[in-house]
Amino acid sequence: MKPKLTTLLAIAVLMACSDSTNVSSSKSNYEMKKSLYANDTHSFSEPNSVAMSHLSLNISIDFVTRIISGAAAYTLERNDNSDFILDVDGLEITAVRDIETDKPLNFLIEEGDKYGDKLIIDLDSNTSQVGLDYSTSPNASALLWMEPSQTNDGTAPFLFTQGQAILTRSWVPIQDSPAIRITYDAMVKVPPGMMALMSAENPRDSNINGQYTFIMNQPIPPYLMALAVGDLAFQSLGDHTGVYAEPGMLEVSAYEFADMEKMLLAAEELYGPYSWGRYDVLVLPPGFPFGGMENPKLTFATPTIIAGDRSLTSLIAHELAHSWSGNLVTNATWDDFWLNEGFTVYFEKRIMEALYGHSYAEMLNELGYQDLKQTIRQLGERSPDTHLKLDLNNRNPDDGMTDVAYEKGYLFLRWLESIAGREKFDEFLKNYFKVNAFKTMTTESFIEYLEENLLANIDEDIDLDQWIYAPGLPADHPIPKSLRFQSVDSIRSAWLQEKVQVSEIQTEDWTTHEWLCFLRGIPENIDKEKLAILDEQFGLTQSRNSEIAAIWFERAITSDYKAAFPQLEAFLLKVGRRKFLVPLYSQLSKSEANKEWALNVYSRARANYHAVSINTIDELLDWNAS
Ligand SMILES: [Zn+2]
Repeated sequence: MKPKLTTLLAIAVLMACSDSTNVSSSKSNYEMKKSLYANDTHSFSEPNSVAMSHLSLNISIDFVTRIISGAAAYTLERNDNSDFILDVDGLEITAVRDIETDKPLNFLIEEGDKYGDKLIIDLDSNTSQVGLDYSTSPNASALLWMEPSQTNDGTAPFLFTQGQAILTRSWVPIQDSPAIRITYDAMVKVPPGMMALMSAENPRDSNINGQYTFIMNQPIPPYLMALAVGDLAFQSLGDHTGVYAEPGMLEVSAYEFADMEKMLLAAEELYGPYSWGRYDVLVLPPGFPFGGMENPKLTFATPTIIAGDRSLTSLIAHELAHSWSGNLVTNATWDDFWLNEGFTVYFEKRIMEALYGHSYAEMLNELGYQDLKQTIRQLGERSPDTHLKLDLNNRNPDDGMTDVAYEKGYLFLRWLESIAGREKFDEFLKNYFKVNAFKTMTTESFIEYLEENLLANIDEDIDLDQWIYAPGLPADHPIPKSLRFQSVDSIRSAWLQEKVQVSEIQTEDWTTHEWLCFLRGIPENIDKEKLAILDEQFGLTQSRNSEIAAIWFERAITSDYKAAFPQLEAFLLKVGRRKFLVPLYSQLSKSEANKEWALNVYSRARANYHAVSINTIDELLDWNAS
């Protein structure tokens, strides 16, 4: 059990009354703890003995064999004479050498658990740089190799990586813990005419030779190493922002993200300077498993946020906010994932509020709160998986990527804001990002920082444990309440009680969020005739807004509204975003007939999905490849 703040406050008072050496010794203690790498059960590496500080890659991308091969060179920080240990998953290592002496080094791959293997390199006493040759497996879990037919334009194949949480080890031998930071440079060879992009300084134009050079000279955790290769073009959106997409998607993408430069300025206004130079977004093919991935300098985004009306761009605010929370101050282990995501959701909502006002942001907050309540119900009110601080030992860190980290984390910060007052809390956050920039943070070191820098001066009995180390939600948690949703709720009720006709529902000034509120409130077992009338009036089955379509399809499944199934099938075949796939396949798997239908669709869709989604859906549908 962690000490409650009341006890810590008493200690702080005692210390304040004694001499200052006590205070500074406590601070140096804090600094000392922070200078050690946190123990990460999801990585074999032992960075407290030997840590990499810089990585140089020289790799070729082969779309025919679906293999990345080449050389990696590591600059080392050695604290003792131990071996250099890296994480690898399915990689073939052909030679390892001391770069300065060119002498071969002995190495061994020890088979690990289901999350990869351990590459042990026997260093000479003076080795400070290690080089190795390697190649990936065609099934590398970080990589999605796509045929031209799986892209928007259909003109060229496409490759992208997804490193988070522990997949980078499947395309680069690496010390794959978020506690470690490296700078990197890379030479990447791709088929002539194609463009390569990384989480680094990027080109604007494709290169006829297919040769690209990248530099990332700010230290990042390995899960933020990223690469994409395709037929891509660039359009500027402002002095520091721009978008990359397949040529056929470029114009709609640029239209959708028109406010990106404003978002960046609003974010800087809130929590201090943007540290990464440019902020660009890459729109990927629909197989991308997430909404977005905050790869530094270059967010990777799903095309499913392009709704044509700029209504789903809070995702861009989210990924941008990660440039502070996550990329600048990074969770030390995946058990501390809420430090990345809870802060980012809070920051995202503040950007949205700054740009579009409180009533708009509060709609997003209430939708997030609904998601959280549902997730807690599904996980179980007493489940340890509803703690902010998780214990993912022996489990896939993806198990921790639930609404708890995001939305309970958000509510916790909103609660702190309500206690401290917005002005004081903003000042605290701004300093937090500044003081801890390019460092990692455990939950415990955050609590220590919070107590020293925010709570010490607040005269209130504050129980942090109930938020961080206890299940569910504390009784006094903030409850987001959107006034705009209240009118949606009343019109829906009136319609369900047949007091108004579908034709009387006024939706002209609804945003996507009002639609989501309306659709979420429709009971699961609603009469399908009623859905048919709604569909006829509003064309929901044909919606080109992925968020609206996904919730509509869910209702169509639970009410057995078969008229929507052909579009549902098309959606499942095209979109690989896990957030949409999981509820749809789950609902389908609840009846025998629908499950059979779902397995049939999945057998054709599976090749379009990334491993992150496949892992989840395989389990959900008891998929058996044979
Ligand atoms: Zn995030």
